[in-house]
Amino acid sequence: HLAAADATGVQQYDPAHDTNAAHRLELLGDLRRAIGADDQIILHYQPKIDLVTGRPAGVEALVRWNHPVKGRMAPDTFIPMAESTSLIRPLTDHVLQIAARQARQWQQGGTPIPVAVNLSTRCLLDPHFADHVFDLLQRTGLPVELLELEVTESMVMADPDRALAVLRALHDGGIRLSVDDFGTGHSSMTYLQRLPVQELKIDRSFVQQMTDVDGDAVLVRTAITLGHNLGLSVVAEGIEDEETAAALRELGCDIAQGYHFARPMPADEFDRWLAGTAVQPPVRC
Ligand code: C2E
Ligand code: MG
Ligand code: MG
Ligand code: MG
Repeated sequence: HLAAADATGVQQYDPAHDTNAAHRLELLGDLRRAIGADDQIILHYQPKIDLVTGRPAGVEALVRWNHPVKGRMAPDTFIPMAESTSLIRPLTDHVLQIAARQARQWQQGGTPIPVAVNLSTRCLLDPHFADHVFDLLQRTGLPVELLELEVTESMVMADPDRALAVLRALHDGGIRLSVDDFGTGHSSMTYLQRLPVQELKIDRSFVQQMTDVDGDAVLVRTAITLGHNLGLSVVAEGIEDEETAAALRELGCDIAQGYHFARPMPADEFDRWLAGTAVQPPVRC
């Protein structure tokens, strides 16, 4: 069940358009084996740019699956499926391990850059999740300040009391937490204030239209003010042009992530990108 070729000409399998239950089951089996293999699940890293200095403030780890037959699969084509089963936990643990090892490698190579990993609802429902993360840090030797975890408000709202307990344990252990996709889903001001987070990421659906749809500029401005009033660092996602970057800078947004600055890339490509930004002037500040 192959969908249209993407921009790179690679055929992509799209389970969202595959209603065949047997295919889904087969794919779940493939994913389970992929987690055990070590060349199928890979991470790409997208820089988060400090809008004041133009320098990378961190990277977000984004998972990709190189399926042996179906080819490269984007997270939206298998994360929701994994989330509907218990498979999301081993997958998240696997991603955390790759990200932590990579971050440790960068740190040892003289580039201590924080790496952010996306969590899922099931992590926040597991009272042992924080201990699991601290074990991982200990095993990899990664300092706690170099791992960041992204959660969405809907993940918290699935079971606020349990989620808050897990988030507090992570926070108390020194892990930086971020609210992803802010502005989508049901957002609760009450919970946002109670979340022990340091960062707010404004969803790209608002950011991408802020320069032409009036309402979205208002929402972005409001989100930045809200984040700052709560003492949070504010990140805008999905910046694709300089006009949007300039507008965000004007509004006092702290950090930007988007194709305009850099696409998600494999670790070795990120190394080259970083070496390039070091000799160039800061990104158009
Ligand atoms: P997210 O966490 O909000 O990640 C940002 C997504 O926006 C990424 O898509 C990134 O490639 C994309 N993006 C960044 N800049 C731009 C831009 O300028 N324009 C556009 N159009 N897109 C941009 P990606 O890598 O396909 O990931 C999609 C979602 O899949 C992520 O959204 C996240 O929710 C989920 N995801 C990715 N990796 C993981 C993972 O390891 N675990 C879990 N649980 N979810 C993951
Ligand atoms: Mg994210
Ligand atoms: Mg997001
Ligand atoms: Mg997301």
